Amino acid sequence: MITVLRIGHRIHRDKRITTHVALVARAFGADQILIDTLDKKLEESIIRTCKYFGGNFKIKTGINPKKTLKEWKGKIAHLTMYGEKLEKSIKKIDEKSKLLIVIGAEKVPAYIYDIADYNVSIGNQPHSEVAALAIFLDRYTDAKWLNKKFNGKIQIQPSNKGKNVLTIEK
Ligand code: SAM
Repeated sequence: MITVLRIGHRIHRDKRITTHVALVARAFGADQILIDTLDKKLEESIIRTCKYFGGNFKIKTGINPKKTLKEWKGKIAHLTMYGEKLEKSIKKIDEKSKLLIVIGAEKVPAYIYDIADYNVSIGNQPHSEVAALAIFLDRYTDAKWLNKKFNGKIQIQPSNKGKNVLTIEK
């Protein structure tokens, strides 16, 4: 069970990037995303993707991050450029535990570094929460996300030329 916690979402500024974070979480093997700021439009847009492209991905916005982190029954991995090297960190994470992956928007509050079991860096240069999440999930799932079945109404058939799309009546 993999959950992503996005903190610091600002509805107008981060609309696109938080949508991308949620889409990457879904496509790369996470089960749900929790977002601190209440944003019904964002929820609707991700639910619409799930309706057509399938899977059981869940989204919840307007959650209290401190409470969620304090009450989390599992391990917490915070993605930050200040963290330990990915290769070293990832070996320590118990695969069977319920994992909460925390990513920020701007500067994250200092308590996150303490509450996290693992502060993980995807390289030590500043880049993006979307890239950090994608690479972390790829390594954490051992690239198994690539074979995940979504069984959606819309199924894309890989193709070298053009678009090959199956529409399944359900
Ligand atoms: N300046 C911010 C700070 O001090 O944390 C970084 C903001 S960055 C645009 C937004 C998020 O992307 C961070 O909170 C972190 O989760 C993720 N991120 C950016 N670069 C990263 C890296 N090299 N490794 C891991 N996560 C990173």
